[in-house]
Amino acid sequence: MQQPNAILACFDPPPKLTVARERGDSISRRHPWVFTQALIRPPQNLPQGLTVELVDGKGRFAGRGSYNCDSRIAVRMLSYDPDELVTEELWARRIAEAVGRRAALATADTDAYRLVFSENDLLPGLIVDRYGDYVVFQALSAGASLWRDTIARALVAMCQPKGLFERSDGDDRRQHEGLEPTVGTVYGEDPPDHLLIHQDGLSFAVDIRAGHKTGFYLDQRQNRRAVAAYCQGAEVLNGFSYSGGFGVYAAAAGASSVVHLDSSGPALELCRDNVERNGVGGEHEYLCDNAFGALRALREAGRMFDVAVLDPPKFASAKAHLDKATRGYKELNLSALKLLRRGGVLATFSCSGAMERHLFYRAVAEAAKDAGRDLLVEAELGHPSDHPTLLSFPEGSYLKGLIARVV
Ligand code: SAH
Repeated sequence: MQQPNAILACFDPPPKLTVARERGDSISRRHPWVFTQALIRPPQNLPQGLTVELVDGKGRFAGRGSYNCDSRIAVRMLSYDPDELVTEELWARRIAEAVGRRAALATADTDAYRLVFSENDLLPGLIVDRYGDYVVFQALSAGASLWRDTIARALVAMCQPKGLFERSDGDDRRQHEGLEPTVGTVYGEDPPDHLLIHQDGLSFAVDIRAGHKTGFYLDQRQNRRAVAAYCQGAEVLNGFSYSGGFGVYAAAAGASSVVHLDSSGPALELCRDNVERNGVGGEHEYLCDNAFGALRALREAGRMFDVAVLDPPKFASAKAHLDKATRGYKELNLSALKLLRRGGVLATFSCSGAMERHLFYRAVAEAAKDAGRDLLVEAELGHPSDHPTLLSFPEGSYLKGLIARVV
């Protein structure tokens, strides 16, 4: 089957779209996105997610991908091989390959990890996470949405979950792709409101139905471990705590106290649950506030810390927002640096895909300059192996971080 249902069968073979010559380079570099401006007269009347064939000005084959005229990313590439058709078999095979690449993780000390990381696993717009016996997926692009039933069948067959839950929601999907949200159980049992997962001997309750992303920030698993190594006996500020990932790891590693700071009440409630569930020691304070003001208030109250974690949400979703994002990162890091004792440690992150690593480092360096401090980088942090990054797709490696000693 080349297209997933009968209506689409009338687009078989796929329509041909022509790529402007000067824009064709990104395809030859195997960057998986083709922007609207790169196409000559992009059609407005094709079904969302339909497979199209891209050709150059001379009619030569350039690749195949999923088309969405409602997105500025008009085509998400699926193949550069003229003999490889976009079929149910292609989607199922790529899902099987991605799941297979994680086989070793199932035996490591976690039962929650990413199975499919979208473009980075050659499956544009598809995120799949395993949470214990449950599997959650997000079809975030028109192409992935169109092949949703194929995806669901493949996941059930390969992962044999107790339940398969769909979280195809989020602002980006609606705003940037023009897609309506779809949320709910697709197969098997409904997940419990708070599903317990395990990482490094700790357990966390995850809200699959309404939590951020698919419920938990799986991308920070190794980084929590790295930061915990600095927390023995430390007073820790866990900025942007969400459900307590960094804070629980810090307390388990022997932190004397943790301030968990987040602007979301439900996130902090889950955080408190997770702290209590793990029976970790130390004093715990929960601050429900906007971090920008709260960090200044902590300073005014004379508070000081040994370790500060800053893990804010995405500040820049496109290059156009970079200046504003840079100012935000600088301000936050400056405030955190003022709260750190000499010899203390700043663990700071950016998950803005549009902001490259060196720009983020520059913003932190500017903050250090204004704080009159030197920062010694002890670790550069990124994604764990279940979030591989495609080298031809810089936007895919969104998470970057530093562990830096304040001297
Ligand atoms: N560190 C977390 C993930 C953080 S996600 C972990 O390890 O799981 C970003 C968090 O920032 C979210 O929980 C969100 O509620 C919170 N947030 C967003 N804007 C904020 C603001 N201005 N001040 C404080 N928290 C904010």
